[in-house]
Amino acid sequence: MQTFYTDLLCIGGGLAGERVAVEAAQAGFDCIILSLVPPRRSHSCAAQGGMQAALGNCAMGEGDNPDIHFEDTVKGSDWGCDQEVARLFADTAPIVMRELAFWGVPWNRVVPGPATYFKGGQKFEVYEKEEKAGLITARAFGGTAKWRTCYTSDGTGHCVLYTLDSKVLELGVKIHDRVEALSLIHDGENCFGVVARSLRTGELLVYFAKAVLIATGGYGRLYKHTTNAVINQGTGLILALDTGIVPLGNMEAVQFHPTGIVPTDILVTEGCRGDGGTLLDKNGYRFMPDYEPEKAELASRDVVSRRMTEHMRKGFGVKSPYGEHLWLDIRHLGEKHITTKLREVYDICQNFLGINPVHELIPVRPTQHYSMGGVRTNKDGAAYGLKGLFAAGEAACWDLHGFNRLGGNSLAETVVAGRIVGAKIVEFLKGYEVDIKTQYATAEVKKQEERINELKSKQGRENVYQLRNEMQEIMMEKVGIFRNEKDLQEAVNRLQELLDRSKNLGLVSDGIGANPELAEALRLPGMIKVALCIAYGALQRKESRGAHYREDYPYRNDKEWLNRTLAYWEEGADLPTLKYEPASKVFYLPPGDRGYGEGKVIPKDDNTEEKE
Ligand SMILES: Cc1cc2nc3c(=O)[nH]c(=O)nc-3n(C[C@H](O)[C@H](O)[C@H](O)COP(=O)(O)OP(=O)(O)OC[C@H]3O[C@@H](n4cnc5c(N)ncnc54)[C@H](O)[C@@H]3O)c2cc1C
Repeated sequence: MQTFYTDLLCIGGGLAGERVAVEAAQAGFDCIILSLVPPRRSHSCAAQGGMQAALGNCAMGEGDNPDIHFEDTVKGSDWGCDQEVARLFADTAPIVMRELAFWGVPWNRVVPGPATYFKGGQKFEVYEKEEKAGLITARAFGGTAKWRTCYTSDGTGHCVLYTLDSKVLELGVKIHDRVEALSLIHDGENCFGVVARSLRTGELLVYFAKAVLIATGGYGRLYKHTTNAVINQGTGLILALDTGIVPLGNMEAVQFHPTGIVPTDILVTEGCRGDGGTLLDKNGYRFMPDYEPEKAELASRDVVSRRMTEHMRKGFGVKSPYGEHLWLDIRHLGEKHITTKLREVYDICQNFLGINPVHELIPVRPTQHYSMGGVRTNKDGAAYGLKGLFAAGEAACWDLHGFNRLGGNSLAETVVAGRIVGAKIVEFLKGYEVDIKTQYATAEVKKQEERINELKSKQGRENVYQLRNEMQEIMMEKVGIFRNEKDLQEAVNRLQELLDRSKNLGLVSDGIGANPELAEALRLPGMIKVALCIAYGALQRKESRGAHYREDYPYRNDKEWLNRTLAYWEEGADLPTLKYEPASKVFYLPPGDRGYGEGKVIPKDDNTEEKE
């Protein structure tokens, strides 16, 4: 069996994994990145709109600073985030944007002179200042007081990932792609590495490392309709859950994006609305200002997604063979704007819808998009429960986003957390000698071998794809934008049945190496467990906060629920064990009204009054 030794093992070659690797490699540490695909094909590459940092360079961002960014982030999170982390993030983001420019990211820049912008459907004539010429500019995104989303047209993720990938190659980081981490090697106190499987040959591999980072991205593929890539199945979270001692944080916090196109669910960026796009119903009527007079289409994503669904429920959706939808209108932005600053959107519309957005409306509906929850870490990125285990990016619950992340804050999180957590890992690695106990690796390899042999030999009745599809349907129908006790309980019951049935899988193909069915069968039980953490967490949280909306508990209840859910999976259990911790140790910004959305709050210190 091939065995590798390294200082830092990054599981994941997206932006978070690569940015952490840069930090460690620059400090002279040996680093290996594992990835299911060549790193440049990670989901980060699909990010379009941009990343937030309070640079205050463009006219519409004038006067911006990290304090305002911090406030927007906390309000966006519906006070569910860790405020120390939000502060650290807002302060560091401007530095990281400039650093990325230095490494080669071709940010859009301020062009001095008169400029016309659209905001909330209104036209603004402004003057971009001479002294700001050539500085990094920004566009609007939802839930922000200033324009601060830095971008490279609508291919931001692509540009930043290619830049970072070149950087890791330059620094000599080793990339092992088409390798899947299957389980962590640990003794209950220290993490020593992982057992992985080559997706090309089927061979099991052992990686020993002093520090292990989980940076495996989101889990959108637990849902039927998602903007996420097919590899976003939450496998990194399974690694943590399977230890029984590393918890996942706030798994019930799942974000839906207002504009997935129908029927493919491919995302068209929030930049469309940021740049002035509007949402229309079946009558061509712009409905968002009726619900959200101030922010309209640019309220936070949870709010816009709910309002869209509500409007469709009232009978204003457009009927189609693929279900109901609404329209996104960007026609008034004009051909030049659309084919330059929104050129990916232009291409997506042409290639996947056969329409020209310069002249035609885009069919959209809210679609699963982002996972606020993940492997719970402290503000240094160290996972709870195991020394030497870290997490960053979408796979982590650091916890910057609480119950709703702002658009543009996730891409920024990957590189900002990457820098901060990377530096902490460097501190950890300096002078750290771990006594690697190889017997734990031997036991873990044996366990994985047995799983594979059992799957290959046993001709169970259950089809892996059918079970997966059932799970995705349950999550979409019962654990979606609007939630209630009855649906959530049903979801939990049915997911438990699926977990049971997943013990009886029968494979159609018997290949060892590049066998996608076997790979899926190895993941499926873990994916169902992750789904159960979401559904069960949502069932227990009897309030509405950010993206977690309970029709039967429509108030945000700070008195009882200003906390974070921690989900553990004990061996042999059929449900997670839930514990809770305070949402934040400090409240620099005391809980209040977000200024958009439903605004129903049961305050922390007063149980007599319900504010509306
Ligand atoms: C279509 C789309 C557009 C978006 N646009 C924006 C935007 O404009 N602004 C914004 O802020 N955010 C945006 N987001 C969100 C943002 O892009 C992601 O949250 C972020 O890029 C995640 O980065 P990551 O490094 O954490 O994970 P990813 O980029 O998803 O990378 C995960 C990595 O982990 C690897 N991996 C997974 N499991 C395993 C395993 N078991 N073993 C080995 N390797 C594994 C994968 O191969 C991959 O390399 C968008 C998301 C989507 C889906």
